[in-house]
Amino acid sequence: MRSAQDLAERVRALDGRGYKAYGAVGGSWAFEDFTLHVDHVQGDPFAAPTRVRVVVPPEVARLPEASYGSRVRALGTAAFLARALGGAAREAPRVRGSGRSGEIDVETPGQEVLAQTAVQVDGAGVVEARFGVGLPAGGRRILGREGARLLTVTVPHLVRTALLASAHDPAEILRHAEVNEDAEHLRASLAAEGLIAFVADGASLPRRSGVDDRPLEGEGVVLFNSPESLRVTLEAPNAGTLTGMGVPAGVTLVVGGGFHGKSTLLRALEAGVYNHRPGDGRERVVADADTVKVRAEDGRAVTRVDISCFIDGLPFGQDTHAFTTPNASGSTSQAATIVEALESGARTLLIDEDTSATNFMIRDRRMQALVPKEGEPITPFVDRVRELHRALGVSTVLVLGGSGDYLDVADTVVAMRRYEPHDVTDAAGDVASAHPTGRTPEAGPPLRLPEARVVDTRCLDARRGRRDVHVKVPDLRTLLFGRGTVDLGAVEQVVSRSQINAIGRALALAPGLPFPPGRSQPAGGPELHARSESPGGSALSGGGSRTVAALLDAVEALLEERGLDALDDRRPGDLSAFRRHELAAALNRLRSLRIV
Ligand code: ADP
Ligand code: MG
Repeated sequence: MRSAQDLAERVRALDGRGYKAYGAVGGSWAFEDFTLHVDHVQGDPFAAPTRVRVVVPPEVARLPEASYGSRVRALGTAAFLARALGGAAREAPRVRGSGRSGEIDVETPGQEVLAQTAVQVDGAGVVEARFGVGLPAGGRRILGREGARLLTVTVPHLVRTALLASAHDPAEILRHAEVNEDAEHLRASLAAEGLIAFVADGASLPRRSGVDDRPLEGEGVVLFNSPESLRVTLEAPNAGTLTGMGVPAGVTLVVGGGFHGKSTLLRALEAGVYNHRPGDGRERVVADADTVKVRAEDGRAVTRVDISCFIDGLPFGQDTHAFTTPNASGSTSQAATIVEALESGARTLLIDEDTSATNFMIRDRRMQALVPKEGEPITPFVDRVRELHRALGVSTVLVLGGSGDYLDVADTVVAMRRYEPHDVTDAAGDVASAHPTGRTPEAGPPLRLPEARVVDTRCLDARRGRRDVHVKVPDLRTLLFGRGTVDLGAVEQVVSRSQINAIGRALALAPGLPFPPGRSQPAGGPELHARSESPGGSALSGGGSRTVAALLDAVEALLEERGLDALDDRRPGDLSAFRRHELAAALNRLRSLRIV
């Protein structure tokens, strides 16, 4: 293999030539203690930076074996190294030049620990990092000396200061591995305890701001302290015995005055489907993996979703058994999002009154008197939430400050007072009997899961212009897919651009994937969930159509078998893991979605 020395000489010799001559740096180069692969060379200084990969062998990286001995540990370690690489790249001296000259693009993980491709650590302790480098130019002419410096001085500097164990405190590396392992373990132990979530005592839930997910700091922060009656004890492999609040399955209300920390608690549960880095404050806050945040989202597209359990008999005879609209209202969007969540296999729903449609949530006695049921197409959620658990085994956590009507249907009521949780279940029961709502329950026919929807997979067309796959993520709420735009702004459990990128890639691949054998029999049993086809199953399995559940299964099976690289054979550094629920959310928001 050609050496780093060869690379330096080669690039210096390109000085002053047209930018395209940079093509000569493509391929693999042996550095003293790692290999640099230049996978794709940018065509001009304004284009996306040149994609490189650095592979560091275990005897150079020298990570402690315990930091990568299991997959979950390796993921914690990899996320740590990726953050370190991002930090080192930000601090590296920047070469100046035209366009994106000198840029070093690392897809740095946020507070979550997800499988990602920016830095990966395998079971043998090999470290592989992927990032972009803007090869320097003045105008469109190559700056040879700067280019050689970037590739053969700056890149080795990044490796030394971020990717090698010697750059870090070994205890710190292990902590990232162990904290990740603990979170995984805590989440896995919820079901056996009859819980849907756990918030450890001492957790710090508030964030710096709506756009800064790091923990709020300072004297005003109140650490989580569980109410005694809801306190449970869980074991974590590294942290040992932990106490905290167990959120039981069923219907749970979080009540309390405005600004007392209700939504903050709910958002922590939302985030609890992911593991968090040490120091985040939520690293021991976990929710069942199939927990889905649901909210109103007026304006979204809905395609043939059976929302008749919640909304039936719309004016002008619109059918809600296969409800379709390019522009949903608050209530219809929230109903559709719930039904879609059930379709993708949600076991717990999280709902905040702050982001809900009031007429979907409640209809009080006076409104019942004024507008009789015959004139109101909506069955309010208050009349379905118990049934959701009793009949379908789906739990709900609701944040409510405004409506007491839910007290009748709650199993557990937690009151937040000055950021402290209190168990007020008994008091809520007393209030409910002392002050009857006088409402007439309105639930119509029994709740059931809708028929499985079948997607015409030709609608998952990612082509645009000359590109076979056009997937772009301009910001944290938008997926450009083919010629369409998918708005994910209301899909609150999407956490990074790399996750959206991976979702877009998965949607592009999904139509061509084989049916995974023997999958998708979610916990609720066959009656409770929209089923996917078994292999060679029904007539639906051929001819470019398959059920939503089968599509999700196929993508999950692919990722399980081949990892994120299965999504994009160019080996990019900007992919990260996502759940089937967010994949479904993107699919359901495609304006071109066709259901047969
Ligand atoms: P609610 O939903 O009850 O109206 P929020 O959850 O929105 O209240 O919280 C109100 C404010 O209090 C937010 O700015 C939030 O960051 C802050 N906050 C929430 N929990 C805590 C806490 N444990 N310690 C300090 N500040 C908190
Ligand atoms: Mg709130």
